[in-house]
Amino acid sequence: MRIPDLPESVGHAPFEAHESAVRSYCRAFPAVFGRAKGAFVFDSAGRAYLDFFAGAGTLAFGHNPDFIKRRLLAYIESDGITHGLDLYTEAKAAFIEAFVRHVLAPRGLDYRLQFTGPTGANAVEAALKLARRVTGRQGVFAFSGAYHGLSLGSLAVTANHGKRAAAGTGLHDVTFVPYPDGQLDDAAILAWIERLMTDSHSGVDKPAAVILETLQAEGGINVAPSPWLHDLQALLQRHGVLLIVDDIQVGCHRTGPFFSFERAGITPDIVVLSKAIGGYGLPLSLVLLRPSIDAWRPGEHTGTFRGNQLAFVAGTAALEQAARIDLGAQVQRKGALCERVLHERVAALDPRLKRRGLGLIQGLDGAAIDDGFASRVSRRCFELGMIIETAGRRDTVLKLLPPLNIEEAELLQGLSTIEQAVRDCLRA
Ligand code: PMP
Repeated sequence: MRIPDLPESVGHAPFEAHESAVRSYCRAFPAVFGRAKGAFVFDSAGRAYLDFFAGAGTLAFGHNPDFIKRRLLAYIESDGITHGLDLYTEAKAAFIEAFVRHVLAPRGLDYRLQFTGPTGANAVEAALKLARRVTGRQGVFAFSGAYHGLSLGSLAVTANHGKRAAAGTGLHDVTFVPYPDGQLDDAAILAWIERLMTDSHSGVDKPAAVILETLQAEGGINVAPSPWLHDLQALLQRHGVLLIVDDIQVGCHRTGPFFSFERAGITPDIVVLSKAIGGYGLPLSLVLLRPSIDAWRPGEHTGTFRGNQLAFVAGTAALEQAARIDLGAQVQRKGALCERVLHERVAALDPRLKRRGLGLIQGLDGAAIDDGFASRVSRRCFELGMIIETAGRRDTVLKLLPPLNIEEAELLQGLSTIEQAVRDCLRA
């Protein structure tokens, strides 16, 4: 199980001595990892961990799936072009064709594709720039609990005060409005948004766009109701304000359908994709835009890495496979199983535990027990051989994010580990 060229057991010394204090996930999961396959990761001592974090949702098909690995190896063997400038390449052409054939055409969607720098944050930057360019307005509305990235433009629409404080400079032109997370009346939120846009004394300029996660992941697994999404889009259309949907974490079948907004029957003006679109955990981001708002001039949002060829190869294989096996239907089935077990065997352990989610992004909210409960459960899961993150305000929500192609037995194994960890933490 070990990579032959690595030493028997790698300690923390290189990281602690030389890596910046900014490192983060490794603090929650302080093993040194080597190999990974499917739903499992192995540390340098050979211990297996069931991965319910899946590279923050990048690994729709788990770690190193053979059907993608073979394509990557063949591409590298053939000396396929590998650098990331936005030249016309065969790999990019194949990706675009697969995306149109398997994602856009079956849904009757007409979007242009913009390849940005490889982070989600960079794609969000592009979406915001474009919305401002197209409308000639500066302001953007974003939601409490929102997470869109940590570069300055994307941080400006990210709500977390801790992350915002690190900007060290002003974060401008954003108005935050409440997310429909059950704390306030959903219709009142829409009325508030409309009033801000129409009242000549609201004190807020009409925005270029509203940027939205249909399900807030980092925000604590908050699901916006479908009718609310529908009504929001109608409202924005009435006032000529663009709708940007950030599907970076919950797109690519995470909630079932390819796009998270399909459940609401809406068509955003701009969609941002990243994470799982790269197929193999390889960095790739793109912005989808209605052709009529493609107001870019050549090179206005450029950069060196805007065509990760290996991610195109992997992403093409992933799109083809998802269509072939009807991944969306699988996610819906496994998501229903996950919900049932969470409800009957985990949330049932204590009435203060609340489950929320869609498909294979599920949350278990422990805030009513205490702020540290979900973090303790995550730590206990790690001791029991499982990687699972927390999300939400004060990290009070345990976030389940397994690979989408996870075997049912592995899904049940993970849920049993969570059940045991919750029992242990309730007893402690
Ligand atoms: N938007 C959403 C919804 C995200 O979940 C994330 C990453 N967690 C981002 C944007 C930022 O992506 P990246 O970390 O690749 O910049």
